[in-house]
Amino acid sequence: MNGLMMQQPLLISSLLVHAERHHGDQEVVSRRVEGDVHRTTYRELAARSRQMANGLLALGVSPGDRVATLAWNGYRHMELYYAVSGSGSVLHTLNPRLHADQVVWIADHAEDQILFFDLTFLPLIEAIAGRVKTIKAFVAMTDRANMPAASKVPNLLCYEELIAAASPDFTWPVFDEQTASSLCYTSGTTGHPKGALYSHRSTMLHTYAVALPDSLNCSSRDVILPVVPMFHVNAWGLPYAACMVGAKLVLPGPFLDGKSLHELFEAEGVTLSAGVPTVWQGLLAHVEANNLKFSTMRRTIIGGAACPPAMMRAFQERYDVQVLHAWGMTEMSPLGTACTLKAKHQGLGAEERMAVQAKQGRAVFGVDMKIVGDDGRELPHDGKASGELLVRGPWIISSYFKGEGGDPLVYSNGNGWFPTGDVSTIDADGYMQITDRSKDVIKSGGEWIGSIDLENIAMAHPSVAMAACIGAKHPKWDERPLLVVMKKPGGEVTRNELLAFYEGKIAKWWTPDDVVFVDAIPLGATGKMQKNKLREQLAGYKLPSA
Ligand code: AMP
Repeated sequence: MNGLMMQQPLLISSLLVHAERHHGDQEVVSRRVEGDVHRTTYRELAARSRQMANGLLALGVSPGDRVATLAWNGYRHMELYYAVSGSGSVLHTLNPRLHADQVVWIADHAEDQILFFDLTFLPLIEAIAGRVKTIKAFVAMTDRANMPAASKVPNLLCYEELIAAASPDFTWPVFDEQTASSLCYTSGTTGHPKGALYSHRSTMLHTYAVALPDSLNCSSRDVILPVVPMFHVNAWGLPYAACMVGAKLVLPGPFLDGKSLHELFEAEGVTLSAGVPTVWQGLLAHVEANNLKFSTMRRTIIGGAACPPAMMRAFQERYDVQVLHAWGMTEMSPLGTACTLKAKHQGLGAEERMAVQAKQGRAVFGVDMKIVGDDGRELPHDGKASGELLVRGPWIISSYFKGEGGDPLVYSNGNGWFPTGDVSTIDADGYMQITDRSKDVIKSGGEWIGSIDLENIAMAHPSVAMAACIGAKHPKWDERPLLVVMKKPGGEVTRNELLAFYEGKIAKWWTPDDVVFVDAIPLGATGKMQKNKLREQLAGYKLPSA
């Protein structure tokens, strides 16, 4: 017997309709590429999204077509999030930090039809315009006054002119909730990037999960500033969650340095933010150097890479900003786990609480996870056994766009689990802790050494700005840990002092064999350390013990 409830597909457009009806006056504030601060409301943003939906029709965009963006976090990008997906086309958020060759490869693979871009990226557009195969028009996300005077880009259109020429009279179409809504390519550290194609249903379910209190905890009383770019897995779902709950949204544009972010946090009364650890490092350095405070920000979500406990401490103990450690991946829309404490942790001392918070957290409802050993057998949730992390759920990829790279689920005998490529433990309370990416694990004498632990310890040293730990070849042990360190400006620390810093903090045999100081650690397009690059750079290096 079926239930007798309405059959309504879960569609992304409903989020904007809700925000417009029930939170119409709520503000969306953006720092524009043009340099000024722009203020709008959900009411206005919804009307302009409908205009843009009509504008897309006028450009000949059909349902299922891929419409690409190369854009920062801003209200026009937000309008496209809804106009493109809401009208049944697929929003493809290209990552502008990639090399032009990669952008061309990805745009061709996705068969993008139209490309919307922020003015910052005009040189990149000029570099790719003659090379991309399927893009029919390029739209500069600005008004006529700011349009590039003489540009080599063919079919260059102006965003505000498209809007002005279109009527806001547009009814969001109703279609199957399984319809594709947006497309993101993985960072692709090996081989070509692969596309994760989200659906309206997966995005909507993910949005509910993101907003929950034990998850990213978003409410109408929040002022949310996603530092995580809208081209990095849909800014972790915050542009959708903000509409769902009716939160004020603050979008920082290209201004992601510590000073600009801090000014915006203070000016707009931001309560909740989100970003990768490398961004927060710049912010903390600025706040520390200038003796500043956060007057309204009380929570920040840190994910995308392991959050060093030293950073957590700085935020929580010095600035009264609670850190929420979260884990996920492009293939997971991205949210998998969030590290909120349970009632039983409330009575713990500061150190013990920190040990829990340093973990990547508990599965949010909708994500099922387990760890398996090399033989594929499930390992116990005892906080000690570590194995490859497998996940499944309604917002987790079933296969890559165009079947690229084979079927990821085949690995687990077709049992429907996605292999994350992360190595982790899960404790009895369900808290998952990543010890490594499987390809970054250091194998010493047949045992695994988790590089993240070693990096976290080094990062707690006051002179260390960034630390990466990689496996260096060793004739006896196969690999031994090598610590690569970028010092803080003016920071003074020697190799021996750093190695001594590990004493008593980990098993002795885990201590790195050597330290190499570098001017910079290579970062990828989403702000994560690129250990493969580092391994290439240090290919000729020989351990003193080898
Ligand atoms: P991406 O798809 O580019 O977002 O990368 C996903 C990968 O980033 C994951 O598989 C993890 O290896 C890593 N990652 C994400 N969040 C965390 C975290 N909180 N701690 C450690 N690694 C993380």
